[in-house]
Amino acid sequence: MKKHCLTFSKNIFIPVTNVCRNACGYCVFRARSVEEAYLTSKKAFLSVVKAKGAVTEALFTAGEKPEDSNLSRWFKKKIESVGQSSLVGYTKELCKLAIKQGLLPHCNLGVLGREELEELREVNASMGLMLETTAPPAGTAETETEVGLEAHRNSPGKDPALRLKTIEEAGRLKIPFTTGLLVGIGETPEDRVRSLEAIKSLHQKYGHIQEVIIQPFVPKPGTQMWENKNKKRKRPPSFEELKEVVRAASEVLPGEVAIQVPPNLTSPRELLELVKLGASDLGGISERTLDYINPESPWPGEEELRRVVAPFELRERLPLHPRFVKQRWFSEEVRPLVEKYADEEGFRLRTP
Ligand code: SF4
Repeated sequence: MKKHCLTFSKNIFIPVTNVCRNACGYCVFRARSVEEAYLTSKKAFLSVVKAKGAVTEALFTAGEKPEDSNLSRWFKKKIESVGQSSLVGYTKELCKLAIKQGLLPHCNLGVLGREELEELREVNASMGLMLETTAPPAGTAETETEVGLEAHRNSPGKDPALRLKTIEEAGRLKIPFTTGLLVGIGETPEDRVRSLEAIKSLHQKYGHIQEVIIQPFVPKPGTQMWENKNKKRKRPPSFEELKEVVRAASEVLPGEVAIQVPPNLTSPRELLELVKLGASDLGGISERTLDYINPESPWPGEEELRRVVAPFELRERLPLHPRFVKQRWFSEEVRPLVEKYADEEGFRLRTP
C-alpha cells in the first residue's frame, strides 16, 4: 500500500435558501411549502460567522434556480425584500461579507450559466456542482439502452447535459471546481464509469477539477426514495459498491484530481479502507454547523479524523486545493486571504 497525503478543510456551512426548482426523490433539504421556505438573512449569516472558530471556508449551498420553482412568487418577494433580484446576486453579497470576515467562499448553487459563474467567480476561491450521474432523469432517456432515473423524474436541473455544461463553463473561466457522483440512486455500475469518464474528459480540456466526491445516497424518512411502492425500504449502496466506485475513480481520474469521501457517511473502519483504495480528501468538516444535506450525520472532529486515518498524514487545505494556490487561480478579491492562509506548498499555514 502506497501512503499518500490526505487533505480536508474546515468550514461553516451556510444554506442560502431551501427553495429549489427540482424535486429529487431523496431530498430532505428542499422546501415543499411556503411554511418550510427560508432565505438566510445577512444577520443570521453574521451570527454564524461570529462563532466560526478557526475555519477558512464559507460553504454556500442553495436550492437550484428558486426563481423557477413552484415557490417562485414567495422567493421573488423575499429576495426583493433584501434589495436583490436573484439568488446569484444575493449570494454574491453574502460572499463579499464572508471575505470581509476572513472567510474564503465556496459556492454550490446548482446549474448556472456562464454569466452567473463569471459574477460569482471573483468572490469565490472555488466552486462546485455535483454531476451526480450521467444517467438521464426518467422520462427523458433518448435511447433504448438508457434507463431513466425515477429519483430525478421531477428534476429538470438533473439533466446531465446541463450539469456538464456548467462544469465546462467553469473550466473555461478557470474556476477551481469540485464535482462528484451520488452513488445508489438507481444508476448502474456502467453509468458510474461513464460519469467518471465525462468528468475526466472535461478536466483534460480545462485542468480545473480539484476533487471528485464519491457520495453514498442515504435514504431518509418522508422522501420518495425511503420506500418503494411495495413498502420495501430502499437501501443505501453497499460498502462493496462504494469501494468499487473509489477503485474506478482511482483508475479513471488523473492523479492530480483528488477523490473525496465524506467522513460523516461511512464508519471509521470503512473510511480507512476507502483511503487505502485511493481516496485522498475528506472534504469540508464543520464543528459549528450542520451538514444540511445529511443533517442526521454530524462530522467527526479533526483529532478524531487524524486517529481514524492514521498512519496516513492528514493536512488541512483551503477551499481551493494546493495546486491552484500555487498556480494562482484566484481573483484579486480573495487574493489577500489566500496569501494570508496558505503556506509555500499551498496547504493551510500551520497555526501554533
Ligand atoms: S437534492 Fe438539491 S437539486 Fe434536488 S431537490 Fe434537493 S435541493 Fe433541489
